[in-house]
Formats: sequence, structure tokens, C-alpha cells
Amino acid sequence: MDIKTICVVGAGLMGQQLALLAAKSGFEVYCADTSAEALKKAQDFVATWIPKQQAKGKITDEQIELVNKGLHFVDNLEEAAKNADMVIEAAVENLAVKRAIFAELDRITPPHAILATNSSYLVSSKIADATSRPDKVLNMHFFNPALIMKTVEVVQGPHVSDETVDKVMEVARAFGKNPARVNKEIYGFLCNRIFSVMTKEACYMLDQGIASVEDIDNAVKGAFGHPMGPLELLDMTGIDLEYHLGMERFRETGNLTDKPSPSLVERYGRGDYGRKTGKGYYDYTKK
Ligand code: NAD
Repeated sequence: MDIKTICVVGAGLMGQQLALLAAKSGFEVYCADTSAEALKKAQDFVATWIPKQQAKGKITDEQIELVNKGLHFVDNLEEAAKNADMVIEAAVENLAVKRAIFAELDRITPPHAILATNSSYLVSSKIADATSRPDKVLNMHFFNPALIMKTVEVVQGPHVSDETVDKVMEVARAFGKNPARVNKEIYGFLCNRIFSVMTKEACYMLDQGIASVEDIDNAVKGAFGHPMGPLELLDMTGIDLEYHLGMERFRETGNLTDKPSPSLVERYGRGDYGRKTGKGYYDYTKK
């Protein structure tokens, strides 16, 4: 493996987990964020996560040593990226921000460095031309919680070389993941497309009064062996996120079927975003 040093951009929900995952897999990791508060929170997360895993016997002494030695949080992107063989960008989901970060990364990283984005929906061809190395710019999409979920989507846009995809697949395996190679760019990649079909159908049936929230979720769990029903899953991933993604997609395509469903709009309007606010399709305040 010729990738040894990884820079993670963004120390938020995903970035902190990706930095920890890479460090415990043996990479030298530099994680940068523009927010001092986010960096502090990420350091606190690592400090509490390790003893919890240790108590459960889920992390070895060797892995703890790797994290202690190899994981660095820094407030300066140039310092974080100057020796990187690979960058995983996990900053906010905003195209202009990501393009600016990639242009900067192109300037400060060694020419051989691979530049990956963890974006959920922005395909790398919208970002790659902000750099002088489009063949090395691609999507590497993890799922939350990234320390646990096994799937990683590695997406080959038309500008990406086979060599880059091969190397990133290798990195994902070194992280202990089962990466899926996605041969063409497509909105939502593999899993979010399938998730969106399932949740749209569940919302449609709820809106039509065909079945209750509980019956829809229980039927899906029992029939397909899914650990969670589609509406429960929407509560977990966030109704606000789903609403914004739906509206953005609708503005792009003009297709009415991309619009968020009435049950989702109603909950979004009330501020019931799911687990994070205590209410969504279910009421968590009573549990
Ligand atoms: P988040 O808001 O928790 O974290 C984003 C971090 O980026 C913040 O700490 C912010 O300070 C930092 N940031 C903003 N601009 C920056 C810059 N110029 N340089 C460095 N840091 C900067 O967001 P998140 O949920 O961790 O999502 C990050 C990315 O991962 C997004 O692209 C998102 O689509 C993707 N993603 C999220 C999930 C999820 O479930 N949350 C799952 C898969 C992929």
C-alpha cells in the first residue's frame, strides 16, 4: 500500500469518525476543521469512544496505540494536507465550499495525492475541474455511523482513472470495510437510491391511508429481515435532511415525484425532524 498518510477535512459527525477509523487502521492521520469548537468536540469524541470500546473488548491495545500515535487534529488545512497521500473531505454538503476546498487541496497536497469526497449526493465531476488532477478526484461515500457500517461506495466518474479507484478500494478494505465499486456516476449512488425508493413508497402508502406507520415498518421488517422499517429509518437519518434533499432534487429535475411527500412536509413544518428533536414518525419523548 503506497498510501500511508491521510488528511481528513472536516471534524464533524462524519469527519471525526473517519479520522479515528483511519488511525486505528494504521494510517498517519491529520484531521482539519475551520471550527475550533468542532475540533474540540472531535477530540472529546475520541477520548470517550476509546475507553467505551475497550470496556466492551472491541478495540485492541495495538489499535489504541495506533490512534494515540497517529491521530492529529489541527486547525490549519495546509499543515494537515502537505504530506498527504490521500485526502478524505467530509466538510459541509455545499458545492461551492467543496470546490473551494478541492482547489486549495490541489495547491497544497503533493501531486500524487488522491482527493476523495464523502459527499452524500454531490458527484465528483462537479468538483474535479476545480483541480488540475481530475483523474485522482472521486467519491468515497461512507455511511453513518462510519466506524460501524461496512459499506463504502467508491464511485468512478468519467474523469477518474482505474488506478485511483483500485487504490481507494484498497484503502477501504484496509479500514475493514466491504467497498462497492460503482462504475458510473449516478445521483444518490447505490444505497441512497434504493433507500429513497423504499421511503417514498412507505410515505405514499401512509399518505393514502393504506396502512399505519407501525404496520408499514413492521411489515417491511418481518418480510425482508430489515432491522428497521423505512419510516423509523427516516426518523434516524433526519426528516429535515430528507426534506432539503427532496426539495433540492425537485428544483433540479422539476419532477413532481422528487418532491417530499405530504407526511414529510407536515412533520418538517412542525419541526419534528425525527430522533434528534424527539418526534418524527414516532414519538420518542414517551419512550
Ligand atoms: P457536519 O456538519 O457534522 O460536519 C462538517 C464539518 O465541516 C463541520 O465541523 C464544519 O466546521 C467543517 N467545515 C466546514 N467548512 C470547512 C472547511 N472549509 N474546511 C474544513 N472544515 C470545514 O457534517 P457531516 O454530517 O459530518 O457531513 C459531512 C459530509 O459527509 C457531507 O458532505 C455529507 O453529505 C457527508 N455524509 C454525511 C452523512 C451523515 O449521516 N451525516 C453520511 C454520509 C456522508
